[in-house]
Amino acid sequence: MSDPKRVYVETYGCQMNVADTETVMGLLRQDGFESIDTPDYADVMLVNTCAVRDNAEQRVIGRMGELKRHKRPGVVLGVLGCMAQRLGQRLLDEAPHVDLVIGPDGYRGLPELIAGAADGQRSTDVEFKSWEHYEDVSAARQGGPSAFITVQRGCDYRCTFCVVPMTRGRERSRTLADVVGEVQRLAAAETTEITLLGQTVNSYHDGDHDFGDLLRAVGAVDGVRRVRFTSPYPNDFSVSVVQAMADVSEVCEHVHLPVQSGSTRLLKPMGRRYTRQAYLECVDRLRSAVPDIAITTDIIVGFPGETDEDFDDTVSLVREVGFDDAFTFRYSPREGTGAVRLPDPVPDEVAGPRLERLIGVVRAEARRKNLALVGSTHEVLVEKPARRGKLLQTRTRQNKVVLVDGPTAWIGTYLDVRLTGTTGATFTGVPTLQRAELAVIP
Ligand code: SF4
Repeated sequence: MSDPKRVYVETYGCQMNVADTETVMGLLRQDGFESIDTPDYADVMLVNTCAVRDNAEQRVIGRMGELKRHKRPGVVLGVLGCMAQRLGQRLLDEAPHVDLVIGPDGYRGLPELIAGAADGQRSTDVEFKSWEHYEDVSAARQGGPSAFITVQRGCDYRCTFCVVPMTRGRERSRTLADVVGEVQRLAAAETTEITLLGQTVNSYHDGDHDFGDLLRAVGAVDGVRRVRFTSPYPNDFSVSVVQAMADVSEVCEHVHLPVQSGSTRLLKPMGRRYTRQAYLECVDRLRSAVPDIAITTDIIVGFPGETDEDFDDTVSLVREVGFDDAFTFRYSPREGTGAVRLPDPVPDEVAGPRLERLIGVVRAEARRKNLALVGSTHEVLVEKPARRGKLLQTRTRQNKVVLVDGPTAWIGTYLDVRLTGTTGATFTGVPTLQRAELAVIP
């Protein structure tokens, strides 16, 4: 039979997975594959998976069952990403319709493995390769004003609830020169907003340069107007990193700073290496250096041993920091992590209402902060048509979404908009000063 050439990919999970999918498609494109956006005519179906929570894995298992319908003879179904890494051979044994199970360090072998699978050879590659950065692979990006760049892979922290160190291996950083080269190529293709990705991105170190150096170097690339990064770890906001955030005007005034709990007593069994006080001091240092900085976070509710007092500490921390937003999760036990051995699980009937209460507090804080912004003017990048209506979705430097009425020709450009209202989470706005290039648009 002829080589399979049409690839359909579904991506689940974090921005790192989105960036990895672009790398995978870049690799396959070099080998003559082309992407299609439906499984109906695919020769290869790939599912890039997340393992962080059990429900993410259940969703993928359900989805793979649906994709089975599209498996004509010779069609290859592959599972990539963290769930593939976590389950490896077990997934191959338990899912006979799956041909390939490939972890995040194994994508280079995909063209060969796909060819083998089309001839009936099922295989798995979940070996960690500490040298693998895919530096020579030209990622297949959608194009447009914004791009994600992975600058660091793996994680050396050992948070007891987290499966990532088991799925992505040890921390390693790309060289600064290599990252800057990629940014220069993107900027030449009219990308103006760069998001640097890493599991604990601000611990980036290539042997000679730290994350502060990287922010300065990326911000200095001609054509780059905005630099973002995610996700940092509180302990890694060194003087050098915070100073670079303050000095480099391209670095946006937003940081996503996972806290997980507001209770020092609970942070310890979580394996987080800071106290509530140290986290608050980190917030203070960031706000002193970058006064308008918006701060968002991740919080886990119902971690083993969480008492009412621990939970109250989390609620009070949310109020004390005044987060702009937060992703809140109910604790999900992950096989192989340290936390599954901890005593005192929190029953659903306790964790559920806690989560509801926390969501209410987070929303109230976000609403309070956002209402205070109505009437102010912000630079926005026009990203894409909004999901509903005829509006455009734009984003401020503080990462606030603003819906604006205007032509699709504005996509990719920057506007100044006055915020006219908020739902509590997103804003509506009207352009105040249209940039020169927009003046020609009727
Ligand atoms: S820092 Fe902790 S939560 Fe983040 S990826 Fe590493 S182990 Fe997981």
